[in-house]
Amino acid sequence: MNQTAFADSLHPVTWPGDYRAAASFTFDVDAESCTIAHDPSSTRRMSLMSHQSYGPRIAVPRLLQILQRQDIKATFFIPGFTAESYPDVVRRIADDGHEIAHHGYLHEPMQGIDAATEASYLDRGLEALASVAGVRPVGYRAPWWELNWQSPALLADRGFLYDSSLLDGDAPYRMAVAEGDPRDIVEIPVDWALDDWEQYGFYPGVTGSGVIESPAKALEMWTLEAQAHHSQGSCFVLTNHPFISGRPSRAVALEQLIERVKGLDGMWITTLAEIAQHTKDTVQDIHTHARIDVPLFPGAGASFRPARVLSGLSR
Ligand SMILES: [Zn+2]
Repeated sequence: MNQTAFADSLHPVTWPGDYRAAASFTFDVDAESCTIAHDPSSTRRMSLMSHQSYGPRIAVPRLLQILQRQDIKATFFIPGFTAESYPDVVRRIADDGHEIAHHGYLHEPMQGIDAATEASYLDRGLEALASVAGVRPVGYRAPWWELNWQSPALLADRGFLYDSSLLDGDAPYRMAVAEGDPRDIVEIPVDWALDDWEQYGFYPGVTGSGVIESPAKALEMWTLEAQAHHSQGSCFVLTNHPFISGRPSRAVALEQLIERVKGLDGMWITTLAEIAQHTKDTVQDIHTHARIDVPLFPGAGASFRPARVLSGLSR
């Protein structure tokens, strides 16, 4: 019998058939794009470039073997620049039956950009995925999970079914693309605790923490999270980067995690596109995000208006 995700009361969802929860393994194939977008001069750093190219060159083939061995389908978010740089790798991902989704063109910084600029990134990414792999993606994940208020409408303009960049839920939901706009897209929320960058990511001058955790620790915390999602009937979404999680012991731990998640009775392990389509087909409520309105730079003595919620939580 279907079970409602009771822990996420704002986004109730039921799962198909006898499934009681959902899980998706996602891979952001950033490769060099994220470092170049952060600092174009990083292309001069041969070692840094090799750290990033490890993803498509070494890690993706290893990860595809694991996914094939475990007989599950995953979602790969691929910047257009990665697709153009490694067309054979991207085509192999598609040939293996995995979902290819949009992740910007050059993993561009999203904060503060206007709609026209953001639209150009979306369109250039779409063109790259179409020309390299013949794919028209239905899913989008903003670089650095940095969605703008204007983004949902831009995605709807281009026929996207879902986004996976927000952090305000344990389960997928439908969201209005803008206040007063009748269109909606599905949101499948993510969580920094389920991102491998926080566990393993380290490169001098690129990340500052210097902490490289043991795969045993990552396996433990991700297992606990998957078990909790399973028990409360919500949606476990893991975000991995091949250049990070495709390293040997991490890949072994990832396969162990997949085995554990497969062992959870009634866990629906599938692509985000499948989860999004199911959400679109079965959920009636459409969530409108509340936007808080405060002065941009309230100086000393400025009179603060109470934060103004521009819309209700649902309509
Ligand atoms: Zn990314």
